[in-house]
Amino acid sequence: MSKSKVLMVNTKEMGMGDSLIDRFDYLWKHEKTGLKDWIKEGEIIAIKTHFGSRNQTRHLRPMYIRKVVDLVREAGGIPWVCEGVGLFWDERNKEATMSNGPGYIFLANKHGFNTGALNAPVVMDDGIVGTEVFRVHNEKGKHIKDVALAMGLRIADKTLIVSHFKGHDGAGFGGALKQLGIGCVGNEGKGGAHWGGGQNIYIKRPENCTGCGKCIRICPTGALSLDENNKIVHNPDKCIACTMCFAKCHFGIPPKELEEKRIFAVKRIIPSVEQVERMMDNAAGVVQGINSDGEDRLRYINIAIDITSHCDCMSAGGHLLVPDQGILYSTDPIAIDQACVDLVTQARGMPESPAETGLNSPHGRIDPIPEAMEPDNLKFGLFSCFVDPKSRPIIAETQLSAAHTQGIGSREYELIDITPKKEKK
Ligand code: SF4
Ligand code: SF4
Repeated sequence: MSKSKVLMVNTKEMGMGDSLIDRFDYLWKHEKTGLKDWIKEGEIIAIKTHFGSRNQTRHLRPMYIRKVVDLVREAGGIPWVCEGVGLFWDERNKEATMSNGPGYIFLANKHGFNTGALNAPVVMDDGIVGTEVFRVHNEKGKHIKDVALAMGLRIADKTLIVSHFKGHDGAGFGGALKQLGIGCVGNEGKGGAHWGGGQNIYIKRPENCTGCGKCIRICPTGALSLDENNKIVHNPDKCIACTMCFAKCHFGIPPKELEEKRIFAVKRIIPSVEQVERMMDNAAGVVQGINSDGEDRLRYINIAIDITSHCDCMSAGGHLLVPDQGILYSTDPIAIDQACVDLVTQARGMPESPAETGLNSPHGRIDPIPEAMEPDNLKFGLFSCFVDPKSRPIIAETQLSAAHTQGIGSREYELIDITPKKEKK
């Protein structure tokens, strides 16, 4: 496969009157991106991004997305800013939560992603509970062949995947590929990638069920019912592992107590490598579902700043691992992520960051295994703090190679840094 082009503007030598937003404007309008011509007058352009979990402080600032909106409008397109429902239940917050559509829009608003600030509609692309999907058959899928593409992205004429490039606790890193494989699928796809699907959801403590029926009302597939004793019964064949029942059951119980009383549980965590392969099965299905008519409907922008080991789904900030790198653009989701991985791996670690001192997990410091401390693995080994130690150093590599096996791009790339040179006075 030939080398894919990745264009970038960097963050170096940025002085007065110069900002990454200005440099991004230059990148967008550069003839080599072809972005102006890619967007046709009156086309709906979905700008798929991430609004950040509650109290996340490292997710993208809305001004980057506003800039994309402005540029889409300038090119004649009609922008929608999109995101999908998240899996994770947050017992502390009923209102501002990623785990349902209204809650996530409310949280997005709190983070500054709203129509007023962005000058575009801010919408959930997969509905109220992440079930509004378009089914795509991915024959090459290793674990997932039936991919649940978010319907909003199927409806849009074109989709710009705008990703914050950073680490990820389970997948090594999060960029364009992870947006495709997790961000662009409904909750069924997210559950299938994280937990292997509904077979792994089970009723842990039926004796705690009060028979209130709240979870039954919210379950999108009718997988729950009450038995003759008014205790909850779960049908794994109908369950899509969306976790809505987790969110609804005993919502008011403090987290510590909840651990003892929780009725719903996940049976096992699938191996980290399989989890990442599942994400890439989804990613390939998303690309096929969006480009099914042979049209070129997807483009990728990675904003490689505020690079931490945590993803933006974590209610965390986290140490910066390396300095800001810049903004990258490509038509190839693998090439753009590979370029970011290489940039970050080659960058110097921030002083006293986990990239230099070791891993600082929420549960306390973990001594990385020796392989994770090899220079080539250091930063990405540390990125994957929750995966089993054996696969920690290879998990980022797995994501790239699994995507490559799915045939959605090339790992060979040509990085063209087009940062405008400042005139010397
Ligand atoms: S929400 Fe909880 S307590 Fe209520 S029926 Fe469902 S499992 Fe039982
Ligand atoms: S049982 Fe729970 S996880 Fe399964 S589909 Fe219903 S709400 Fe979702």
